[in-house]
Parts: sequence; structure tokens; C-alpha cells
Amino acid sequence: MGASEVHLSSALKKLNFVERNNEVSSEKRLCFCELYLTDIFYSPIEEEKLGYVEINEVQNIPWNEKYQCICRACKQYFHVDAREYHYTWFEWTKK
Ligand SMILES: [Zn+2]
Repeated sequence: MGASEVHLSSALKKLNFVERNNEVSSEKRLCFCELYLTDIFYSPIEEEKLGYVEINEVQNIPWNEKYQCICRACKQYFHVDAREYHYTWFEWTKK
């Protein structure tokens, strides 16, 4: 898959997630941040601009930046590895 196709599929995934979430009762509802674990194109910087997460820490390692951030909705901590290979991608893990 090329980068643009991955972007498209990730946009669709986001839509599906929101739709599915609206169908279940509120206690079963997953936090939006669950999506970050399934995709490689969520930039913590962009998500912070959108107000979904808060970045607590950035480590500027060349070609491998690392972020610590927290989901503003559910207070889950995340560790994000940014890597560059043809394009930049992000690996999110729960802390
Ligand atoms: Zn969350």
C-alpha cells in the first residue's frame, strides 16, 4: 500500500470507529485513543493541535523522535515512536 492509500484507509477507519461507537451504550464505548494503536499516521503533534492529546515530553533523537503523551479524554498515557522511512510514521503504545 502506498502512503496515500494508507491515509485513506485510516480516514475510513476513523469514520467507522466513530459510527460504531455511537451505536453502543456509553459504558462500552471505547475511547478515541484506541485508534492510535491501530494506525501509523496519527502524529502526536497533530492530535495535540486538535486537542485530543497532550504531549508531556519530547526526545529529539535523529530519525527517531520519541513522545510521551496523555489522552485528554481518558487520561491514558502513551509512548510514541516517530520513525522516518520514505515517509514519517508513528508507533503508539500504551504506557
Ligand atoms: Zn483516550
